[in-house]
Amino acid sequence: MHAPIKPPDYEPLLADHGFDPIESDGLTYPLGEFEPKFGEYFELMPGIGWTRTPVPGPLGHINNWVLADRHADGSAGFAIADTGLFMPQVIEAWKHLFEEGALQGQGATKIIVTHYHPDHVGCAGWLAKRFKAPLHMNRTEWLLTRLLIADKRDGVPQEALDEWRFCGWDQNLIDQFAEKGWGRFARAVAELPIGHIRMEEGTRLKTGDHQWRVMIGNGHTPEHACLIDDSAKVMISGDQILPRITSNISTMLSEPTSDPLGEWLASIAHFRAALDKDLLILPAHGRPFLGAHQRLDTLALRHNEALDDLEQGLRESPKRVVDSFPYLFKRPITPDVIGMASGEAMATLRHLEFTGRAVHEMKDGVAWYSAI
Ligand SMILES: [Zn+2]
Repeated sequence: MHAPIKPPDYEPLLADHGFDPIESDGLTYPLGEFEPKFGEYFELMPGIGWTRTPVPGPLGHINNWVLADRHADGSAGFAIADTGLFMPQVIEAWKHLFEEGALQGQGATKIIVTHYHPDHVGCAGWLAKRFKAPLHMNRTEWLLTRLLIADKRDGVPQEALDEWRFCGWDQNLIDQFAEKGWGRFARAVAELPIGHIRMEEGTRLKTGDHQWRVMIGNGHTPEHACLIDDSAKVMISGDQILPRITSNISTMLSEPTSDPLGEWLASIAHFRAALDKDLLILPAHGRPFLGAHQRLDTLALRHNEALDDLEQGLRESPKRVVDSFPYLFKRPITPDVIGMASGEAMATLRHLEFTGRAVHEMKDGVAWYSAI
């Protein structure tokens, strides 16, 4: 059943909040610089609340969306979309909201998770258990979460060591990373419920007066779910559309020969064609914004420029994954970010290879890429 399309009964510019909108890079931030503090609840529009929970490192935070809903008996409740890392400061922020803050006296009706990354799925199991609320998640993302939590081996698997060598890491760096061990995922993610409710392309989901449809994006994770309310013109975009930072697109050990950047670019084209340009985008990181088309165009352009630059570099001399960093990143790549940087660089090189613009040959376990 399609919800009848009606004009939004709420001004999408959110003018009645009294904020001064900011324009930046072709995007409009209707709430200006405003952002709620950790564990603070802010009603963004009828039926949609916004809070934040902390994420260590440069990201600093994740946005969590609290959606007004009703329990089966008609009493008031709320659904939560994206849950934060399962760590003490985040749990404290949630408990504050539930026990003393805006959500006290109510319970959760649904726990919704866009994708399997720990800052999104971390508290989902804890929340689902606390409120006996069902977990709505894409099946692949739910399975991946459960698999990664269950992977409790001690040492780093040989495939990971081989991949680090493939990228051109030196033995010291490989040893250093091997010492850190395996299974860090499970430390930031609570055990998930044994069952879930599937979200796939076209799934419909209701919270209060909001009727959502699910769109699936690929490349950042295998099957990232976004929620769109066409009549309220609002989209919970997770990490699929972020206003400032570029989502990490990395080759994953679970599919080392895949082409995630190709999938990501295809998703950008898919979303660009399917989304209303006036949607208010609620991203997982950063502030709500208008300008989805502009942002998707910028993302596609940046990736294509990076592909062209790197191809040009490969024409000059063959390169390892680590040699491609200066073509892709403005800042120097230090050991704390080299894992992510290698994943992204590999995804870019692989896409050149997939599209017939580069090849690689192996020397002593290290891949050397050259242009065709
Ligand atoms: Zn993510």
